Amino acid sequence: TIPVIAIDGPSASGKGTVAARVAAALGFHYLDSGALYRLTALAALEEEISWDDEAELAGLAAELPARFDGDRVFLFGEDVGDEIRSEAIGMGASKIAAYPAVRAALLARQRAFREAPGLVTDGRDMGSVVFPDATLKIFLTASAGERAQRRYKQLIDKGESANLQQIREDIEARDARDAARTVAPLRQEPDAQRLDTTALSIEQAVETVLTWYQS
Ligand code: C5P
Repeated sequence: TIPVIAIDGPSASGKGTVAARVAAALGFHYLDSGALYRLTALAALEEEISWDDEAELAGLAAELPARFDGDRVFLFGEDVGDEIRSEAIGMGASKIAAYPAVRAALLARQRAFREAPGLVTDGRDMGSVVFPDATLKIFLTASAGERAQRRYKQLIDKGESANLQQIREDIEARDARDAARTVAPLRQEPDAQRLDTTALSIEQAVETVLTWYQS
């Protein structure tokens, strides 16, 4: 079977960066599953579908006109890489991700990324629901303060204005919603290894995942 490294964890933990680098190091495919929820939230805005309408959202998710090309993401043929990264879309993604029909609609699309020679994927339910037979499951986290700092620095580096306290509140609100929902709640699976990156560099986190995978 085709190997899968499933990396789950809270928002702004750095799991996306780590997952992409591990994939590059191994020559594996990479799936950012959160992008699918973000794309669905953005597509709903564009199609004037309410973030409260589970049935319409599920229909949209099932036919999501999205395409991935390396680091870039397209929706209706337009590069929306920056747009889907906003906090507002993150919140919308978290809202619509609580609907079972939306999650079900995105399931097959996620599983289709499992192609030779292997897949590294990150999200909230990669190890629990989408790839329960993953070769390696990691719960990657960091303290809320550290995660807020990282997100803050990202925004400042991009030349955007940012408020550290507000970012921390947004991150904690999103994690609370993701952990409280009834379907695929954010939590560490019993068979996942915990990787706390609060005091680790990206390189150290990547090295740790590679070591675990190869041992
Ligand atoms: O990982 P990211 O912050 O991009 O995810 C955005 C939102 O999408 C999360 O807050 C979560 O609610 C949802 N999500 C999910 N399951 C995944 C990935 C993301 O529910 N596998």
